[in-house]
Amino acid sequence: MSDCLVVGGGIIGLSLAYELSRRGISVALVEQGEWGGQASSAAAGMLAPLKEFTAPGPMLDMGMESLALYPGWAHDLEECTSGDVQLSLEGLLTVALNDQEQELLEAKYQWQKESGHSVHWLVGKEIAEVEPMLTDKAQAAIYSPDEGHINNRLLLRALVTACRLQGVKLLSGCVVSGIAVKAGKVVGVDSSMGPLRAGHTVITSGAWAGIMLEMLGVSVPVRPVRGQIAAVSSVGIPLRTVIFGTTGYITPKKDGKIVIGATEDESGFQREVTLAGLASILNGVMPYVPALHAATFLEAWGGLRPATADRKPLLGPIPGWAGLSIAGGHFRNGILLSPITAKWMADYLEQGKTEQLTPFMPSRFLDN
Ligand SMILES: Cc1cc2nc3c(=O)[nH]c(=O)nc-3n(C[C@H](O)[C@H](O)[C@H](O)COP(=O)(O)OP(=O)(O)OC[C@H]3O[C@@H](n4cnc5c(N)ncnc54)[C@H](O)[C@@H]3O)c2cc1C
Repeated sequence: MSDCLVVGGGIIGLSLAYELSRRGISVALVEQGEWGGQASSAAAGMLAPLKEFTAPGPMLDMGMESLALYPGWAHDLEECTSGDVQLSLEGLLTVALNDQEQELLEAKYQWQKESGHSVHWLVGKEIAEVEPMLTDKAQAAIYSPDEGHINNRLLLRALVTACRLQGVKLLSGCVVSGIAVKAGKVVGVDSSMGPLRAGHTVITSGAWAGIMLEMLGVSVPVRPVRGQIAAVSSVGIPLRTVIFGTTGYITPKKDGKIVIGATEDESGFQREVTLAGLASILNGVMPYVPALHAATFLEAWGGLRPATADRKPLLGPIPGWAGLSIAGGHFRNGILLSPITAKWMADYLEQGKTEQLTPFMPSRFLDN
């Protein structure tokens, strides 16, 4: 029996298991397939709170706090595993190609600047100085020099190794089929490897978290939102920064690939790539970097983002079920938000702290 059982071995479950084990808490982590084999390995790995969150508030605060944790967190993981997670915080451009886009972007820049964030407003040649590969049709851009990306697949691999080294009990290929309750308290799960018991159980099963909690008759609004995404070779396209436009994003990775994406479409739990999806990705990014027309296509894949009804994660205890909590629903930003999620959830599980979790508590959907 472990102190804590974490159900779902994506970026959130792995990060939490790693954090708990570093604090001396015994952890078992269960994954039905391969470690990180769902949304977490499908992601582009961008770390971009200023791009992603469109207004000041708890999501932006959480994202900024997580971004600030990243260098130390990635460094610790690299030290612990002797691996390289290819963290790159070398800046991000959000680009306007016409007057209407420029107006919206300028409004965003104003509140970001007033809130004290590190952003710069660029026009004309200033944009080309930051990113020479960008189209000369770019009218204006917000440049945020401290945002960037990580190789999420290497990060996942490092987390698995770190968990193993920290003594986490790692159970892959283990399907959870039920939540076990004794005298009104959750005592673990039933699984394809038999009963697994723990003092506390945390659901980190991504787009499947809703299905998992339905086993207890608890309804939380988590649904899969497919992202179709592709990679091309960076040969001949020496991009410096991540580029975001209204119709797509372009992420130059350190491994010789440029990741381009992504769709947001709903097809239940199907994660295949469709021709329409691929066409929309390609048509969406080429206006921003004309050199992409000649890029060598490498691969395309899909993943299921765990989306909640209000696009905020679900973090904290499940009301009415002692011994059970959730960390999920990170939608488009689970890679960015993994270090802060692990920290806040571990603070809750270790010390009972819930202050930071308040805006994200599952009770917001369950009290009534
Ligand atoms: C195309 C795309 C691009 C993205 N780009 C970015 C980005 O640039 N930056 C960013 O921050 N985020 C990005 N995201 C979002 C990010 O990938 C997700 O928010 C994050 O991966 C969610 O992590 P998770 O651990 O909650 O879910 P998952 O990675 O899906 O992990 C959940 C795990 O639970 C397991 N599980 C489910 N049911 C069971 C069961 N019954 N028994 C045992 N195990 C079970 C699953 O097999 C799965 O491995 C992107 C997502 C997609 C799809």
